[in-house]
Amino acid sequence: MTTWTNWAGNQSCHPAEVAAPRRPDEVVAAVERAHARGIPVKALGAGHSFTGVAATDGLQLSLDGLSGITHVDREQRRVRVLAGTPLHVLNPALHALGLALPNLGDIDRQSVAGAISTGTHGTGIRLQGIAAAVSGLELVLADGSVLACSAEVEPEVFQAARVGLGALGVITEVELQCVPAFRLHAKEFGADLFEVLERLEEDVERHDHVDMHWFPLTDRVLVKHNDRVPDGETGTPLPRWRAALDDDLLSNRLFELTNRGASRWPAVVPRLNAVSARLLGAREYTDDSWRVFVAERKVRFRESEYAVPRAAVTEVVLAVRSWLERHRAPLTFPLEIRFIGADDIWLSTAYQRENAYLAIHQYHRMDDHGAFAAFEAIVAEHEARPHWGKLHTLGADRLRELYPRFDDFVAVRDRLDPQRRFANAYLDHVLGR
Ligand SMILES: Cc1cc2nc3c(=O)[nH]c(=O)nc-3n(C[C@H](O)[C@H](O)[C@H](O)COP(=O)(O)OP(=O)(O)OC[C@H]3O[C@@H](n4cnc5c(N)ncnc54)[C@H](O)[C@@H]3O)c2cc1C
Repeated sequence: MTTWTNWAGNQSCHPAEVAAPRRPDEVVAAVERAHARGIPVKALGAGHSFTGVAATDGLQLSLDGLSGITHVDREQRRVRVLAGTPLHVLNPALHALGLALPNLGDIDRQSVAGAISTGTHGTGIRLQGIAAAVSGLELVLADGSVLACSAEVEPEVFQAARVGLGALGVITEVELQCVPAFRLHAKEFGADLFEVLERLEEDVERHDHVDMHWFPLTDRVLVKHNDRVPDGETGTPLPRWRAALDDDLLSNRLFELTNRGASRWPAVVPRLNAVSARLLGAREYTDDSWRVFVAERKVRFRESEYAVPRAAVTEVVLAVRSWLERHRAPLTFPLEIRFIGADDIWLSTAYQRENAYLAIHQYHRMDDHGAFAAFEAIVAEHEARPHWGKLHTLGADRLRELYPRFDDFVAVRDRLDPQRRFANAYLDHVLGR
């Protein structure tokens, strides 16, 4: 029996069949086969979701082989890419064309289709998540038929499928609206949590991308401000040795060792966090946007992330801080705080709302001591919408209240997949059967 586990190791399943199509017509054939056998189908990206969104006991379609750019429209700055293309392949390929995605998350291991399907986002209040860059896509439906959609063609399917949770069909190709390649100036520094909160509104407006890592049980925050560099200005990238020291040695290798230590002696966590917060010191550099956005994350963890209305961020952070101080929960990873502008995608966490995103993490070998549940209870008071790929417990009843177009999404699902061939336990929970 095949056993699949996700990146974090907290989700697993036993697919009845695994297929790895290399072309869209092979996806069609695999879906038709599953249809004939009467088993469900689930497309798999890079397995980087923390929820069971990608799990299946039916046909698992690994789309690693469906990779690459298939068409470039230089005038419109649009590219068509195969659905399984990993972002770390896409980004340099776009760069070679003088193009880039307007915004990215903090890693590049995900597939394009996987990233958009759960609403993957980065940070920047004047920007949106990755799915907002999608201008069209192609889906293989449960009976093997192929449906193309865009803002003009099948617009309702388009609104549903950009953040479609894998519930509507298998995406084989995605069209992306790119921007001219650009460079970012990165400024990173340690700061006091309360000082950061005091000037947060101003910073979020002033900088293109604001990202903060707050070390639990300390009041230290690692702040990252990334700003677009005017055309023609090149700036200086990080020296190779500095990137290796910060990103490989400190953020990954040493961090793995300290986490292993923490899992044996949780009492040292507050002191460890204080040291970690100081080790990652100030730095400033300029590089291509995609190189600045992403980092390598080798230390495994579990994560929950919620979007709250932007104005609620300080109240939420202070409530989480107060809970952590009272319970001394030994979380070894920083909480991350980011910001994203509103979009119009039905199941996007940013649907018609400017958001602050708060993410809580714990090392994969350590218990969270109730912190995730407490975090969820705190954000619940602020109309919080969970990231579809990160741990949460909300079900269809509550999600229907949080998403004004929830029933429209379900109507598209009823039309495209009435027999629920693309369902799994997670989708039954969050969308209903
Ligand atoms: C270390 C780490 C860092 C992360 N950083 C960020 C971040 O900065 N911002 C953020 O928002 N999220 C982040 N995430 C979450 C991650 O971006 C999402 O969970 C994303 O969905 C993972 O992409 P994937 O390719 O691994 O998809 P998978 O997890 O494999 O699949 C996700 C969903 O997409 C569906 N899917 C995949 N391919 C297709 C297809 N071809 N057709 C239809 N459906 C498909 C799957 O069925 C499933 O429902 C991070 C996760 C990790 C582990």
